[in-house]
Amino acid sequence: MIVTALQLQQIKSHAELIYPNECCGLLLGKITPEGSFLIEVQETENSWTDEIREDLFIQTGTTRDRFYIAPKVLLQVQKQTRARQLVIIGVYHSHPDHLAIPSAMDQEIAWPEYSYMIVALNQGKVTDIKCWKLDQDHQFQSEEIVLTEVPK
Ligand SMILES: [Zn+2]
Repeated sequence: MIVTALQLQQIKSHAELIYPNECCGLLLGKITPEGSFLIEVQETENSWTDEIREDLFIQTGTTRDRFYIAPKVLLQVQKQTRARQLVIIGVYHSHPDHLAIPSAMDQEIAWPEYSYMIVALNQGKVTDIKCWKLDQDHQFQSEEIVLTEVPK
């Protein structure tokens, strides 16, 4: 994924602001033969609740180790994105006091077309940021984060 330093900073700031809870958001951009270009970082609310946890038949989890983007928010952003001739190229979320590696849950709910950016924090400060994408076997492979000067 091709990003600017400013965009990365926005994601990091969001993660630090929401700590010790997980932050989340959508990555809007363009997919070109040269790669996925990030155009805009769309912060979203972490809508994880106990009701959602029960709906998904998951035993444990709070907003400190789970995130959930409400379907109506996703739809809304999809519509706005399409109107601007962009696409949702991925999702980002944070791992408070954890590594920037996808969890089993992250893998389970991931969609093949999206890139997944994960921000690791330690005691409220960002320590790492990594990007992942599913391969044909639904396994996460790391995707390079390439810094560019100007967004295209
Ligand atoms: Zn995660």
